[in-house]
Amino acid sequence: MATAEEVTNGEVARAFHLMADLLELDGALRHRIMAYRRAAVRVAGEERSVAQLARAGRATDLADIGDALAAKIGELVETREIAALEKLAARVPRGLAAVARIGGIGPARARALWQEADVTDIESLRVRAESEEGLTAVSGIGPRTAESIRSQLAGLAAGQEPEPRVSIGRALPIAERLVADLGALPFVERAEIAGGLRRGAPTAKDADLAVATSRPREVAQALADHPTVARVLSRGAQRCVVETHIGLPVELRLSPPASFGNLLQHLTGSAAHNTRLRERAAGMGMSVSEHGITAADGTVTTHEDEEGVYAALGLRVIPPELRRDTDEIARAAGGGFPELVSVADIRGELHAHSTWSDGEASIAEMAAAGRTAGLAYLVITDHSQSLGFAGGLTPEQVADQWSEIAEVAASERRLRLLRGTEVDILSDGRLDFSDELLAEFDWVVASVHSRLNQSPERMTSRLARAARHPAVDVIGHPTGRMHGRREEAEIDFDELFAAARDGGTALEINASPMRMDLGAGRARAAADAGVALTIGSDAHSTSGFALRRYGVMVARAAGLIPDQILNCRPWDELAARRAARLDAA
Ligand SMILES: [Zn+2]
Ligand SMILES: [Zn+2]
Repeated sequence: MATAEEVTNGEVARAFHLMADLLELDGALRHRIMAYRRAAVRVAGEERSVAQLARAGRATDLADIGDALAAKIGELVETREIAALEKLAARVPRGLAAVARIGGIGPARARALWQEADVTDIESLRVRAESEEGLTAVSGIGPRTAESIRSQLAGLAAGQEPEPRVSIGRALPIAERLVADLGALPFVERAEIAGGLRRGAPTAKDADLAVATSRPREVAQALADHPTVARVLSRGAQRCVVETHIGLPVELRLSPPASFGNLLQHLTGSAAHNTRLRERAAGMGMSVSEHGITAADGTVTTHEDEEGVYAALGLRVIPPELRRDTDEIARAAGGGFPELVSVADIRGELHAHSTWSDGEASIAEMAAAGRTAGLAYLVITDHSQSLGFAGGLTPEQVADQWSEIAEVAASERRLRLLRGTEVDILSDGRLDFSDELLAEFDWVVASVHSRLNQSPERMTSRLARAARHPAVDVIGHPTGRMHGRREEAEIDFDELFAAARDGGTALEINASPMRMDLGAGRARAAADAGVALTIGSDAHSTSGFALRRYGVMVARAAGLIPDQILNCRPWDELAARRAARLDAA
C-alpha cells in the first residue's frame, strides 16, 4: 500500500485521461490523444505504485510510457501538477470535460457545443438546453440526444458534475480478484460481487462487494491491506470503502451468514428493481431491507441466499442481469425464466482480427487460441482497404491472406478456420469491396468506422443499405458507441431493424467492454422485431476471445436464449443461411 500522501495510479490515469480529453476538445491529432489514453489505461492497470516507480526513475519500465510521459508522471508526483495540462486547461474550458461525460455528448459533441454554442461547462450547457435555439442546432445532436441530455441535466443538482465511470472491462477483473482473495479467508463464508457489475452494466462508478462473515473487522482489515488498494476512504462495523490503484472505489458490505441473501439481493439492485420489490412486499403486508424481511406482526425473517428472499415474496429467483425494472418481477411471479445464453453456449467466433490488419497475433496464433478457448469455428475478419489507420486489406492482400488461412486451416483438426472480412460501410452505405469479392468470403461483417456524426437520416439509410446487401451477414457494433469516448449514433432503430429482418442480416452484440454494442435494451428490441443477433468478441489478440463474456452479459440482460444468437449454432447452419441469401439475390 502506498502512503496516504502519494499520488495514486488512479490520479495519474485521471490526469492522462483529462489530458487526452482536453487534447480531443482542442482538436489535437489522433495519435497524440491515443498516446495519453494508452498510457492512462496502462497506468490504471498497473498493480505497483507508479509514483514509486517514477521516484526510482523507472516509470519507463512500463509499456506505453516513453521519456516524455515519464517526465510528466515525475512532475505530477513532485508538484501535483503537469505544466502542459495546466497550459491546455487555460485554453480549453476545464468544465467542458464534465460536459463530455454526460451520456450522449462525448468529446466530439462537447467540442461542437463549445465552438458553435459557447458552452463551457455544465451550467452554460443547462442554459443553452433551456434556450429557444436548444441543442439540436449543434452538429451531431439530434432530437433524441437532446432529450436525453435534458433529462440527465435535470438529474444533476446545481454545481454537481457527472461522476467519472469505469468500464466493466477494467472494474470487473479487480472486483473478481478481491472477491477471490476475501473469499479464501478462513473466517469468510461467502464473498460475491454485487451492484451494477453483477448485473453486467457496461460502466460502474464503484464496485460493490458483499461478504458473509462473523468477523467483519478482520475482513475489512484484509481489504484495506490488499495490494490493489491505495487508500481507505471510510470504515465502519458493516461497511468499508476503499480506493484501488486504478481509481475505482470499492464498497464492501458485511453481514452475518444468516442474512447474506438479504444483503446480496439488496446490493444487486437496481434501485428501480428494489423499489418495485418493496412495493410488492408492501402489498403483501411486509417490508424488505438488506437485514431481512419484516412481516406485518413485526417478526423479521432472514435468508442465507437470494432464492429465499424472492421465495418469501412469491417469486422465482431473477437472473441478476434482468434486475433492471423491465418486466422481470411479473415474469418471476408467473412462469419464470428460460435458460439464458451463457459463454458455454457459444460455438464459434464470427469477428476477430489478425496482424493482417490491426490485430496483435498471427492467424496461426489466433487459431490456436480459439481452439484453446473451445471454439468449433473461427472467422478471421480483418479490416478492408479504406480503413488505412487500421491496416485495411486491398483485394490483392485478401487473396494472399486466403492462402495463409488455407495453410493454417489444413493443419487445424478441431477448429474450423474461415475467411471473413470486417468490410467498411462507406459514408453513403456502399461497401468497401466489390460485390463479387464479398460473395467469395465465408462470412461478412459490415461496420461503420468513420463519419459517425452524420445526420440521423443519413446514418440510418447508410446502415439500412448495408443491412439489405445479400453478402452482408451481420452489421458490426451497430451504434458505434465507445464508453467515455463516443456516444451511439442517432439512428432510427425501427428502420434499421426492418432492413435487417427483411435482408436476413443479423445485428452484432459487440463484446468489447468499451463497446457492448448493441446494448441490452436495443438487443431486446431487435430480437422482438425478429432480427437475429450474434455475439462478436472483436478479438484483436489471443486473449481477446475471453471478452465474449461481456457480450454474453448484454445478451442475458436482453433476456436472450441461445436459439436467438447465431453463433450458438453449428457452422454448417450459418453457411447454409449465407448460401441461401446469396442464391436468392
Ligand atoms: Zn469495427
Ligand atoms: Zn473489428
